[in-house]
Amino acid sequence: MRVSSASPRLAATLLLFGLLMAGAIIATLAVRGNFRTASREALQDTVEVAMDAVREDLSESLGHLHGIQALFNASGVVGRREFDVFVTIFLDQSEGTQALEWIPRVTHDEREEYEARIRAEGFKDFAIHPPGDRGEYFPVTYVSPMDPNLTAFGFDLATEPNRLNALERARDTGKLVATAPITLVQETASQKGFLIYAPIYRDAEVPGTIEERRASLLGFGLAVFRVDDFVLGAVPATAFSQFNLEILDVAPETIVIIHSNLAAHEGLSPESGLTVTRELEMAGRAWTLNFSAPAGYGVSAFERNLWLAVLAVGALLALSLAGSFNVIMGARQRALTLAERMTRSLAESEAQRAQMFELSVELIITADREGRFAFVSGAARRILGREPGEMVGQPYLDFIHPEDRDLARAAAADVYAGEVLPALDIRFLRADGTTVILNWNMAILPAPHDLILAVGRDLTEERAAETAKADFVSMVSHELRSPLTSIRGRLELLLDGAAGEMPEQALAMVEAAAGSSLRLQHLIDMLLDLSRIDAGMFEVDLEAVDLAAVTRRAAESVSTGHRDRTIELSLNLPDGLPPVYADPERLGQVITNVLVNAYSYTPDGGRIAVSAEVEDGAARLAIKDSGVGIHPDDHERVFERFFRAEQIGPRPPGSTGLGLAIARSLMELQRGEIRLESAPGEGSTFTLVLDLFRRDSEPGTGEQTSRSSRASRTGNRTP
Ligand code: ADP
Repeated sequence: MRVSSASPRLAATLLLFGLLMAGAIIATLAVRGNFRTASREALQDTVEVAMDAVREDLSESLGHLHGIQALFNASGVVGRREFDVFVTIFLDQSEGTQALEWIPRVTHDEREEYEARIRAEGFKDFAIHPPGDRGEYFPVTYVSPMDPNLTAFGFDLATEPNRLNALERARDTGKLVATAPITLVQETASQKGFLIYAPIYRDAEVPGTIEERRASLLGFGLAVFRVDDFVLGAVPATAFSQFNLEILDVAPETIVIIHSNLAAHEGLSPESGLTVTRELEMAGRAWTLNFSAPAGYGVSAFERNLWLAVLAVGALLALSLAGSFNVIMGARQRALTLAERMTRSLAESEAQRAQMFELSVELIITADREGRFAFVSGAARRILGREPGEMVGQPYLDFIHPEDRDLARAAAADVYAGEVLPALDIRFLRADGTTVILNWNMAILPAPHDLILAVGRDLTEERAAETAKADFVSMVSHELRSPLTSIRGRLELLLDGAAGEMPEQALAMVEAAAGSSLRLQHLIDMLLDLSRIDAGMFEVDLEAVDLAAVTRRAAESVSTGHRDRTIELSLNLPDGLPPVYADPERLGQVITNVLVNAYSYTPDGGRIAVSAEVEDGAARLAIKDSGVGIHPDDHERVFERFFRAEQIGPRPPGSTGLGLAIARSLMELQRGEIRLESAPGEGSTFTLVLDLFRRDSEPGTGEQTSRSSRASRTGNRTP
């Protein structure tokens, strides 16, 4: 389910992301296109400036040639010095011009005279070169400036095809004509150069026909250029660091690369970036200038990278929008998944609980307000011999022993009223008609359940054992105690002389027998007490008790019994002591027990002081002796059954280690306690603490008539 519903969401998210990304890319392309246009425009602007400068330089140079033409037309014969002076002004103006020259036409007949004339000027070794006889010669005659161009001096331009070609065209057309790119005679580096011929005829006017032009040709004014110097002179040097320039000579002959600094700017080939192409009319030739620059030429880094920012922002936007979409769709999906998982785990824990209930040895049931079983655990099979399914929906009273139905009804009402009940024995009927005793703990399962939850423990066997024990106790009490009482009675009678005067020896034996039977009776009494306490059958009747009176009675009886002892017994019982809440008989038993111990463990000559006081709403009766004392390690243990502390000297007759154990139980049954303070050799003080009697704890209200009777009704508390 998760996979099948997650996939469409993913697909939708991806589709949305794709659409948004497409938008971002379109925006990016627009920005990038925009920036390319700006870049191209910037390059075009630079190129325009450069081209203007080149054209201006070119036309200036052409102007200089026209000047030279005019000079020769005006004066017919121009001396070397005259020429130099005239062109110096031009050369100063134009850095791109390598030289300005005068090239006369010299026929073979004139050659000797011509060379002699030049030599006469002081150039002793002058000769037209390259050597050889030709019909006519076009030697470089005046060259300004002379020094860097000395090698060209006397060079016959007609000896080289490119130079001759342009020369002839200039002669035949009467126009300024440039050569194709050539390497200058005077070139020392590797630059290309070119020449522009300006034909000069005998008359100022250009003759009408080619024949006339050839016939009347005097020679040429010549401008010499090195391409790089010419172009660099025109274009600001900084511009070259930003773009490449390739110059091609494209017409009228084959294409020749005149200039290229592409190698200087690797990676700036025309393809990689922007290219702007311009045509230049170069004195009868067509030049193409390719200016190329990297993409982003002339725009700021910010503009150059703006597209990146647009792409990044676009991508982020697409991501976050698609992400949000996904999250929103996912949240819905997760809520559904969570709900489903919760339902499942609820069902699982329900199942687990049902299994736990099923395995429980105790019977677990729930019942509604109508008194019908809503749930019955599997233990019903073993405990009641019934199928849980048969019981559900049935009134539970039908399964309860008739004598306990009222008790069950009352208990249910108490639980619904919010009371916390102690465990309660309720007898149930098995399928086979026998009875089981179940000890129930009950609680309310609040709304929306509004059910009683009860857990019943099968105590049938335990209760049977308790009954057997109680039976044994009563057996012992009757079978052992009754004959012993009659033995004691008869011994007393004998001692009282019922059988007449007895011989001395017989009297001693009867006295010993009477003492032993008395101790035996005490022992049996104590064992019976303990059995009854253990069985929860020890009856105490709590009522308002005059503590002083009970104490006085016990003290009297004990001191009478210890007439032969020289121990001083003092009673300090203030008048008007409020009554305590106790069972007078059991309280007397405890006081007697403690007093007997005090006599037993106090040597002759010692003292016993009994005092009572009321403090913090409780009465305290302290029985203090000056006897052997008890080591602190044994303070708790003396209240254990059969414990007797180590002691110096003979143990008192009849010591069983049971007295204080019974005393503590009896005090607890009377909601009181017994405390001990003592140290070896410093005597002991046993203090009995009892509640004072209050009106609301008056006997007869049922609540406190007898804890033991309550205990017998509800059975033992589940530990
Ligand atoms: P017993 O029958 O031995 O007196 P108890 O349960 O009454 O049994 O007392 C347990 C032990 O506590 C006694 O054996 C004795 O060692 C010690 N004991 C009890 N009362 C006193 C006392 N007043 N002084 C010293 N030791 C005492």
